[in-house]
Formats: sequence, C-alpha cells, structure tokens
Amino acid sequence: MKSNYDFIVIGAGISACTFASFLNKRLPDISILLVESGRRIGGRATTRKSRKNKILEFDHGLPSISFSQYISEDILTLILPLIHSRKLVDISNEILIMNEFGLLNNKFTSDKTYRSLPFMKDFCDEIVNQSINPKNISFLFQTLIKSIKRSKNLWEIQVNNERYIQSKNLILSSSLIAHPRCLEILKTTTLPLRDAFMPGEDKVVDSLLLEIPKLNYLKRKIYIFYVSNLGLVKNFNNQYLQIAFSTLIRDDLNFERIIFQRQSDGSMIILLHCSNINNINEINIDNIIKTLISLFSNYRIFVDLFSQAKLIDQMDWRASQPLNCLLPKELQWSSRSNIGFCGDWFDMDSCGGLESAMKSSIRLAKLLTWN
Ligand SMILES: Cc1cc2nc3c(=O)[nH]c(=O)nc-3n(C[C@H](O)[C@H](O)[C@H](O)COP(=O)(O)OP(=O)(O)OC[C@H]3O[C@@H](n4cnc5c(N)ncnc54)[C@H](O)[C@@H]3O)c2cc1C
Repeated sequence: MKSNYDFIVIGAGISACTFASFLNKRLPDISILLVESGRRIGGRATTRKSRKNKILEFDHGLPSISFSQYISEDILTLILPLIHSRKLVDISNEILIMNEFGLLNNKFTSDKTYRSLPFMKDFCDEIVNQSINPKNISFLFQTLIKSIKRSKNLWEIQVNNERYIQSKNLILSSSLIAHPRCLEILKTTTLPLRDAFMPGEDKVVDSLLLEIPKLNYLKRKIYIFYVSNLGLVKNFNNQYLQIAFSTLIRDDLNFERIIFQRQSDGSMIILLHCSNINNINEINIDNIIKTLISLFSNYRIFVDLFSQAKLIDQMDWRASQPLNCLLPKELQWSSRSNIGFCGDWFDMDSCGGLESAMKSSIRLAKLLTWN
C-alpha cells in the first residue's frame, strides 16, 4: 500500500463506491483509497458471512433497492448494465404485503424493487467494476478512522500500526465523524471533523457542523433466525421472499418486514426487521416467535418454519436511515480545504436512502476539477 493518494475516501459503502467509480471514469489516472472500518464492502447495504458456519451468507442491512420516478441518467448508466446481465433483478413478485388481518397480498404497484445477486454487497463490487482504471482504486478494510489532520495542504489519517497516509483531497462518505453520535460510538470527547478545523477557518465546514446535529436517524433492529431442517425448508416454494407488514402491524409491534433467504445448503435464514423513530423495545424472543406464529396462522408453512426457527443473532442499526433535516448539497465540497462529503444525509431532491447516496456521490465527483 502506498502512503500517498490523490483522494482518501472514508467508508466503502454505496456512496464511497459510486464516488470512486464515477471519479475514476472521469479522471482514470488519479489514485483513490477507500478506508473502511468493516471487513468488507457495502456499508449499510452489506452482506454477512457467518464466521461460525461458513455456509451461511445473508443480507443483514438494506434488503432491496428501489428508485424514484426521477432517477437520474447517471444512475441509470450505472445500473442498466447490471439489470441486463441479471446482477440486479426485479424482485417485485417476491414481495408480499401482510394486512392487519394476517392476509398476504401481492404488492399492487408499478414501482420496481431490485435485489443484487447473489448478494447485496455485490452491488457495490459491480459499481466499482465499472470504473475505467480499477487498479487506481484501492481498499483498506478493518480500519476505523478516529481523527483526521490537515497540515501543509495535505490531509493525513492514521491507519493501523501507527502508520500515516496522506492525500491532497479527503472525502467523508459517512456522517459519523461529523455527527455527535460519534462521541459515544468512537468514545471521543470532541468531534474529529471539528478538531481538524479552527472555527472560522472554513465556512463550508462550519455550516456543515452547525447543521449536522439536527440530523436524526431511523433505528432498525434485525432479529436473525435460522432453520436447519432441510426437509421443512424444501416445502417452502421461494428461494427468497420479502413480506412487508401493514402500517397497523408496524405501529403496534415495530415489525417492518420479514425476509426469507434460502442458503446454499438448503437451510434458511429468516430476518425480522423492526424499526422505530425512537428506541425499539427489547422483545422477548419467545414472544417474537409466538407473535409471528399468530400473525401467520392462516399459512401452515410459515407456522412450521417459525416453530423450528432458532435465533442466532441480532443486529442493531442505530442509524439506519436519516429522517429529517438533510443537509443542503451546497455543503458537499469545500475548495478551501479540499474536503468533500457524500451520502444519504444530503438533500437530493425527492429521493432518499440508497438513491440519494448515489446521486450525491455522482454530483460530488462531477464537481471536482483536477490540474
Ligand atoms: C436495515 C436497513 C434497512 C434499510 N432500508 C432502506 C430502505 O428500505 N430504503 C432505502 O432507501 N434505504 C434503506 N436503508 C438505508 C440505505 O442502506 C442507505 O441509505 C445506504 O446504504 C447508504 O449508503 P452510504 O454509502 O451512504 O452509507 P454507508 O452504507 O453507511 O457507508 C458508509 C461506510 O463508512 C464506514 N465508516 C463510517 N465511519 C468510518 C470511520 N470513521 N472509519 C472507517 N470507516 C467508516 C462505515 O462502516 C460504512 O461502511 C436501510 C438501511 C438499513 C441498515
């Protein structure tokens, strides 16, 4: 690994990958390093590979992708090749809605919902693969950045083993080290982005730091169940099925959706997504199973699956999706300090989540000039 890059991007989720791929298409000769705290690409749209049972692999974050009717030409250019090669597939027929009487119906809407195959993390890989000169995009995983420094017009970040890496430009693809939530998560007393700048030194950064504490996130908790009985899973017709719960069920129980993802050995992972603007109450596991059995009592196969399901893990997404006070896109780049920002925390006109993350990254990559 080199010790100097043209760009360092903090994060390797969909915004970082879209930014790197798009910038590389425009400027194939510049070097970009993506530094990620996790073990693999994808961020909130990632896939988990079990360390205990090597067979198990499933999407425990963003389960599917939808785009608004205002999808941009730039995003279409990135996703159409994936749709044509069936790496991004329309799963609208594999999504059902459960109403408050426990009845399952098809999703009656013309909107398409996609899933990346074989797993959601592959979407990020495929976006990076579309770059022109991929050897100029490098990754550094399992590296959590807790501080950023700027000296003599260069950015400097400390990575593992007391090593420092420098770059002329720095991109934050996550709000984390600028948002007050990082104080608890990183166990620091001050914001790393604030520490890098004296107040008054950079107006863009000052405005961003003023706006960002207003940003609130939807909390999501995922209960991960495993069904090992291959004979039983065989009776389940779908390789993949997503069921969204009606608003009444969601309000009452916090159950947002449930996903059935068949594994390569024929066993099954079931992911129950719970969400709430405030905190999600801890629910006793036996009660979850009992509630699911009661909700699905009209459908024998689901009752049988839940009766055999064992909880293997829980995943807390304390900041799964920004809810309000998104930041104005004018704050995405400061040419004074060569620092940029992208992700779903920017207001990208009538779209949200993954689409706004991609849109903000493409906008930022287009803004940059190089000499
Ligand atoms: C369970 C779940 C369900 C969701 N459902 C929907 C949905 O239905 N519709 C929708 O539109 N969106 C949904 N989302 C949101 C969607 O996944 C995100 O909008 C999208 O993935 C954002 O991508 P990103 O690259 O901007 O951010 P991220 O994916 O968060 O990427 C940022 C990356 O930066 C890394 N990072 C952060 N700080 C540091 C640091 N200091 N050092 C090193 N690395 C760092 C993080 O590990 C992360 O990998 C959901 C998210 C979750 C978790």
